[in-house]
Amino acid sequence: MARTATALIKLSAIKQNYLYAKSLAKPAKAVATIKANAYGHGAVKVAKELADIVDAFSVACIEEAIELREAGITQPIILLEGFFTVDELDYISNNNLWTAVHNQFQIDAIKNANFEQPINVWLKMDSGMHRLGFLPDEYADAWSQLNALSQVASITHMTHFSSADDLSSSITQQQTDLFIATVADLPGDISIANSSAVLSNAMPNRSQWVRPGIMLYGSSPINDPALSKALMPAMTVKAKIISERTIDKGESVGYNAKWTAPDVHKIGTISIGYADGYPRQAVNGTPVWINGKKSQILGRVSMDMAMVDLSMFADQDCLGLEVELWGDNVAVNDVAECADTISYTLFCGLSRRISKQYV
Ligand code: PLP
Repeated sequence: MARTATALIKLSAIKQNYLYAKSLAKPAKAVATIKANAYGHGAVKVAKELADIVDAFSVACIEEAIELREAGITQPIILLEGFFTVDELDYISNNNLWTAVHNQFQIDAIKNANFEQPINVWLKMDSGMHRLGFLPDEYADAWSQLNALSQVASITHMTHFSSADDLSSSITQQQTDLFIATVADLPGDISIANSSAVLSNAMPNRSQWVRPGIMLYGSSPINDPALSKALMPAMTVKAKIISERTIDKGESVGYNAKWTAPDVHKIGTISIGYADGYPRQAVNGTPVWINGKKSQILGRVSMDMAMVDLSMFADQDCLGLEVELWGDNVAVNDVAECADTISYTLFCGLSRRISKQYV
């Protein structure tokens, strides 16, 4: 029996989720956010799956865009962090990348550039997240500088929500109001909505581009089942039971003895640990799915292995059985909650030891 820890990736689910995002955001255009290797799902595979239906892709940085262009992806790709050197700017112009512009260095570099192909710019406003972008009182000046340049083909106005996953927060409306007021007299499309805003319909009524990411992979950042029920999980992570034993009442399991058997108890060891990307914080009680039954992690997750409850299979040989860590039967958000994190980090954190299989 091989030690296996595998991520099965259903590309058709990502396509369905993208179409769902588009249907919610209609008539907005939708940028498929496939940065960070498509949140761990494989950027080239995902881009090829969406190529025929996508309005544009977005990635964080130029290396991610180059990977897509070299794989033959021809659709527009937006660099969400923009560029950092003049060489990158040349590549952007030569390869039809669209770029965020969020500082004066970038504006000056475009001013001084000599390229044949004018570029499409996504001018970023800092509407309150204070991560990237021009502050509202700097924004019109930045726009005017770019608008005067022959090197610039178009300017889309963009900002990013800090708290759209929290429906009780007033910050989303404040950011929207500030952004819309700042760009009110400036022509051009706008782009503001991430997955949370698409799912909760926090989208301004002006021609726009939405930028869903996590929802494409079947996870909702908003803790409301009604908003996520149409999403299809795209990734199922599986491992195998590589050892089993029955321990006595009072015996403990794993590092630091974090779980103690309340009775004579069958447990199993599975072929995945935190070096594979399964979270170490998923101690005691995190759900797993074994052979059609719900089970749970027992004790601490180790580097290469973790232990699970096999009490429901007391009379069965369990060696080699598949264990689903998240996917169709175990919601990734439930695992994330048990591990005090978010689905984003689970998807992005899978290590190269996990083999990806596309279905
Ligand atoms: N737009 C920007 C600028 C982002 O940084 C991100 C992700 O962090 C997204 C869109 C997509 O966000 P989400 O995955 O929450 O939909």
